[in-house]
Amino acid sequence: MGERKEIRVSGVVQGVGFRPYIYRLATEERLAGTIRNTAAGVTIEVEGPSESIARFLDRLPAEAPALSRITGIAVDSLPPNEETGFQILASRAGEAMHTLISPDVAICDDCLREMLDPADRRYLYPFINCTNCGPRFTIVHDIPYDRPSTSMAVFPMCPACRAEYEDPLNRRFHAQPNACWDCGPKLELWDREGKTVATDDPVARAAELIHAGEIVAVKGLGGFHLAADATNSTAVIRLRERKCRVEKPFAVMVPNIETAERFCEIDDTGREILTSRQRPIVLLRAKRPTPIAHCVAPSNAYLGVFLPYTPLHHLLFERGKFAALVMTSGNVSEEPIAIDNGEAVGRLGGLADHFLVHNREILLRCDDSVVRPAEGGARQLRRSRGYVPVPVFLDEELPAVLAAGGELKNTICLAHGNQAFLSQHVGDLENLESYGFFLEAVEHFERILEITPEIIAYDLHPDYFSTKWALEQTGARLVGVQHHHAHVAACMAENHLHEKVIGFALDGTGYGADGRIWGGEVLLADFSGFERVAHLNYVPLPGGAAAIREPWRMAVAYLAQHFGREFLNRGLPFLAGTNATSVKLVLQMVERGLNSPLTSSCGRLFDAVAALAGIRSQVNYEAQAAIELEMAALESNDTVAYPLGLVPEGAGWAIDTRPLFEALLADLDVWLPASAISRRFHNGLVETFSRLARLIRDRSGLREVCLSGGTFQNLLLLEGLCDALRAEGFKVYTHAEVPAGDGGLSLGQAMVAAHRFSD
Ligand code: ZN
Ligand code: ZN
Ligand code: FE
Repeated sequence: MGERKEIRVSGVVQGVGFRPYIYRLATEERLAGTIRNTAAGVTIEVEGPSESIARFLDRLPAEAPALSRITGIAVDSLPPNEETGFQILASRAGEAMHTLISPDVAICDDCLREMLDPADRRYLYPFINCTNCGPRFTIVHDIPYDRPSTSMAVFPMCPACRAEYEDPLNRRFHAQPNACWDCGPKLELWDREGKTVATDDPVARAAELIHAGEIVAVKGLGGFHLAADATNSTAVIRLRERKCRVEKPFAVMVPNIETAERFCEIDDTGREILTSRQRPIVLLRAKRPTPIAHCVAPSNAYLGVFLPYTPLHHLLFERGKFAALVMTSGNVSEEPIAIDNGEAVGRLGGLADHFLVHNREILLRCDDSVVRPAEGGARQLRRSRGYVPVPVFLDEELPAVLAAGGELKNTICLAHGNQAFLSQHVGDLENLESYGFFLEAVEHFERILEITPEIIAYDLHPDYFSTKWALEQTGARLVGVQHHHAHVAACMAENHLHEKVIGFALDGTGYGADGRIWGGEVLLADFSGFERVAHLNYVPLPGGAAAIREPWRMAVAYLAQHFGREFLNRGLPFLAGTNATSVKLVLQMVERGLNSPLTSSCGRLFDAVAALAGIRSQVNYEAQAAIELEMAALESNDTVAYPLGLVPEGAGWAIDTRPLFEALLADLDVWLPASAISRRFHNGLVETFSRLARLIRDRSGLREVCLSGGTFQNLLLLEGLCDALRAEGFKVYTHAEVPAGDGGLSLGQAMVAAHRFSD
């Protein structure tokens, strides 16, 4: 006795091999029926014995293709119609297709095996792909996601590729980037002027040049990399000089997981993330000694490592037998990554000696993602390639909202319904090129997602480029969202919280509701609003941005505020390395309040402690002092905690740093090592923030805590505070899907802005 069911599946189920999968499944279960793509996902009809249908329904989610993500399955009964055979139907014309575009995906094992098989027709073909792998997001300029809407449109398929593309049982059925030696994109090696270098094997030649110490720009999925031999210090130093990147660590690509294990401590979580199809850069504890050149990641206990993810990467390692390659974004420091061949020669001509290019256009730049394993999962530091544009799935419906993000590490967020789409890492908007990329990202997301925002959210900082842009927009309601409120809201959103929480928002800089620079904030917040219940005491930021580049200024600011000029006579080690006239000047600025805006920033407190501990007086990349302070603490197991005061202020508290600096100065008098000072400082923050949480719980009854802001990229603080709060009976929520730093800000802005009109 047969029955017939209609099964509607929603989620990421198009462009990921879902229809051939269902075709195979139905055929195996001897079911008749159909499948077609719809606006919401796919609709399947199956007819046959009820036991077969039951098995089909069991297997459907369990064996779904790797790239799919099912968010809902709805089943209804239909009258049987005696159908025989299973068919894949065309989409209905004119139907709006709100389908999710897949991120770019690392080459799959099947394609890798074929590429290395001399008998395969794609032997050594650098653009091999299938429905389970290959470029997606970076080659599509419009929807629907079909070949004409991609940069593959200019490559008509040869008969062999076409046959695969049209065969529902083939792994390349409707694989839009499908190509081969006969019909697809090709590689070339160029010199620094962009002239073609004659060679039979551009990859082998490029590998030789890298071995000889050259820097070769390699066109990847989301942009160019600059590649250099990571074991060759001369090459790496040359790369640093050319890129104007003094000390910021470089990531290295290694040929396989075994090599990664030679260089780094890797646990199961780390291994899983490294080999995941997203293939992010993973920060891992570096092993010593190491053949990796010291200048790859100076003063850093961690190494950013990733595995090859395009066929070309695999070929490069196959040909070059490298142990590790520095693979850094093809750009001058902090500019967006170069994607176009001509643009690359123009912008990278002074950086690279040769170019390994191809003629498949990258339509949207997308940097490598960077994650850190913690608490059994990946923590996003930079969420880009491999993850974007998978939405954050919300458990509520939002109107169409666009959030413009912050200034540094900018991302935008376009949300509608229960999906919030964060863009790839756009970068620091203070440079013009990044601002151009920001505009591209807004336009691109609105087009491929077909969302026209009714509401636009922005940061309150009047000088942010994203804010200025938002304020110029017409036709949408504009909503300003306080920076730290947005951080807490982002954490609430990804954890599906709705009720009021205790939010710790710790970071470097965010425009406060009082016009001051906030950054050490404790809020009672929900999506509708927030109350600031505690904050680090205000100190002057002598010279504004200069104080961020020169942590010693923060040490002077804190010491002058707490002790007056008395500290000058204590023979503090950090003063020995600092120009005495500069110190006097900064003191005058602090005392007279000249060019010294007040800040409650937690990042600047880290800077002051790092300077005092003798770790770093000047930085040459963002958060360098704080990162090195964290590294120093890893060398110590000290259990002392520096004390901090809680001074009643209004309905809450100001966190008084004076006792901390008193204790720190006493430790300097007895030459306590920097590692122990750093550990005591971290312990002090953990203890004080958990004490604050208890006081707030006593007063408010709240026991849900959200941790957000760039400071929580510090694992010692994150894990320490999580443990302490859980031990006290709190429920602690942190970031996993989006960065804790300003890369996740746009999600929170979108949530707060959407609620401004609905509550
Ligand atoms: Zn594949
Ligand atoms: Zn072909
Ligand atoms: Fe922030």
